[in-house]
Amino acid sequence: MSELKIRDIRAILTAPDGINLVVVKIETTEPGLYGIGCATFTQRHLTVANTVEQYMKPFLVGKDPRRIEDIWQTAMVSSYWRNGPVLNNAISGIDMALWDIKGKLANMPVYDLLGGKCREAAAVYRHADGRDPQEVEDCVRKYIDQGYRYLRCQMGGYGGRDHTLHSPENALAGAYFDPDAYARSVPRLFEHLRSRLGGEIELLHDIHERLAPIEAVRLAKQLEPYRLFFLEDALPPEQLEWFETIRSQCATPLAMGELFVHSAEWMPLITRRLIDFIRCHISAIGGLTPAEKLATLCEAFGVRTAWHGPGDLSPVGAAANIHLDLSSPNFGIQEWSEYSEKAREVFPGCPEVRNGYVYVSDKPGLGVDLDESKAALYPCHNKLPAWTLARIPDGTAIRP
Ligand code: MG
Repeated sequence: MSELKIRDIRAILTAPDGINLVVVKIETTEPGLYGIGCATFTQRHLTVANTVEQYMKPFLVGKDPRRIEDIWQTAMVSSYWRNGPVLNNAISGIDMALWDIKGKLANMPVYDLLGGKCREAAAVYRHADGRDPQEVEDCVRKYIDQGYRYLRCQMGGYGGRDHTLHSPENALAGAYFDPDAYARSVPRLFEHLRSRLGGEIELLHDIHERLAPIEAVRLAKQLEPYRLFFLEDALPPEQLEWFETIRSQCATPLAMGELFVHSAEWMPLITRRLIDFIRCHISAIGGLTPAEKLATLCEAFGVRTAWHGPGDLSPVGAAANIHLDLSSPNFGIQEWSEYSEKAREVFPGCPEVRNGYVYVSDKPGLGVDLDESKAALYPCHNKLPAWTLARIPDGTAIRP
């Protein structure tokens, strides 16, 4: 075993739920010893796969898979220009696969390698939506009946939908919404939900960077009476200084970070205590190695974790989130999107939710596997998601 080396690295693409997923598989010179990691940048899956196979594979074959930290550090600077969602995701696939291998070598689940369980399972939140407040309430109640206690509530998706748009002639095609109508609708929604549901259920909301900064300040203040668990992405990453303005004006808890790809983005928000929850997408920041350090940094400043957990995350990435959730004293909440039966067949050992908590397999490593023959049944597609082409009523393109 002292001669253990990386023998092969491959990117495996699959879309069992119609969402492009990228998984990296690392095989070693020890027969049967391999690891898998999530490298899902769903809108650029081919570019990540190419980075893994054309650049990372020749760089890493023959190296010792036990040297996770050294591999992370050297892979990140191997192109001199570093970070960015493509390279970070490619490195994440490798990094998680190495942690998976490390766990198998130690005969321990990854949460034990990270210090052991602080809790038996991670509380999750689900997404509730509807066309009007009553429909959102009905959706929330459906989830409450299934055992969930945390619900993110939107009305008509990001930025809302049911608006009378006043647009100029020949306005370009796009996913139109009216920021002002949206901002006015949200306090009405939460007034309705709190009055009907009482104070026991935790409610969340995602602005998804859809408002001008001062409008986000105003909305955060208006939502304060409804005691949100958190308000997410009130601002785009380009406007982080505005968090100080929100912070100075209300005590609505703030969550931020799913678009971050560099420590320079999260560092000031955490060290100046301008947010309450860090929301990074673990594969987009480079995997478990940087995420564990980020969680520890947050702990020192009283910031809790709420790792990004949407559908465009493989069950391998979801498992990595949960191993970190279980071992972090400052865990806050885990976002959760349920996987279909098909996805569960492709990924045996996929994490499972029971009564509002998600459980990860106790098998060594990440505890989730990939059935490559089943994965091949669900090829990826190359279509851009329409919602990224967001426009406001006069046709101006804005952050989605
Ligand atoms: Mg979000």
